[in-house]
Amino acid sequence: MPLVQIEKDRCKGCELCVRACPQEIISMSREINTKGYFYAQVVEQPRCIGCRLCAITCPDVAILIRVNGVSYRFFAY
Ligand code: SF4
Ligand code: SF4
Repeated sequence: MPLVQIEKDRCKGCELCVRACPQEIISMSREINTKGYFYAQVVEQPRCIGCRLCAITCPDVAILIRVNGVSYRFFAY
């Protein structure tokens, strides 16, 4: 099962990943990060299908996807 990790302190709260996720399992936190932004978080990890759209979309490369023990940060289209 893929594991999506969002580095909250890299997030600028643009919400692009929220809109990109076909499973609608990313939402914005009600807390702020060290930059002062409401950050994105995965709320229903078990429903993730590993499509990578969130990671591809994030302009700040704040999203890592972990598959079979290997972490991926960059993806080509
Ligand atoms: S990999 Fe796909 S399904 Fe999983 S959180 Fe990212 S956009 Fe959503
Ligand atoms: S796309 Fe990246 S910077 Fe924008 S809200 Fe999502 S994690 Fe944060």
